[in-house]
Amino acid sequence: MTGELAEAHSLVEANLFVVVTPCPACGRGPLSAAGPPAAPTSITPANLTLEARCAKCSSTKTFVFALPGRTGSRAIVRPTAINSEDSPSRIIDVAQWLTLAKMIGDAAAAETDRIQARHLLIDVGQCLNEALKFYDDEDNDLPPPGALFHDASRRRFRDHPEEFSRRRLLDARSRLPVATESEGAAAGCWGIARWFTEMTP
Ligand SMILES: [Zn+2]
Repeated sequence: MTGELAEAHSLVEANLFVVVTPCPACGRGPLSAAGPPAAPTSITPANLTLEARCAKCSSTKTFVFALPGRTGSRAIVRPTAINSEDSPSRIIDVAQWLTLAKMIGDAAAAETDRIQARHLLIDVGQCLNEALKFYDDEDNDLPPPGALFHDASRRRFRDHPEEFSRRRLLDARSRLPVATESEGAAAGCWGIARWFTEMTP
């Protein structure tokens, strides 16, 4: 990647970006962060570096993210939310949030530990919230063109616009659990953090 660095709001968001990025060597992917997901290769006040490995061809790729200056590194590494700001992600587009919601929802369905399944479903809700941040006009049920960053996302939108219906996303979100007060905001990202650990090669 040349030019401006991609900006991540948290380590979790950076890890999720790696998961939805196809492997540049074989095109099949998926990539996953090599090593414990809570421990980036390097973190400075300005940058976060992640080493990723392809599950198919084992080639590695290094990702460097810029960190928004206003967030402390503890909030980056152990966030209570993927992105605690109202503005949408700069690195994961609306279609990729839908992909992540499906992947994490499938992991929740296959999970035998009831508490982990609940945490995963809470995090599916977080992914839908991230997707919904892209919708700018109350009257428009579909996201604006700027919400799609990649050709593959634009193709998916063209072929299956119904998947992007705001009403559909709100309806899906309303059926998901949200963290209770006693679980606290800390429940946010627990499910995803363990999910990363399980996929680490
Ligand atoms: Zn590969």
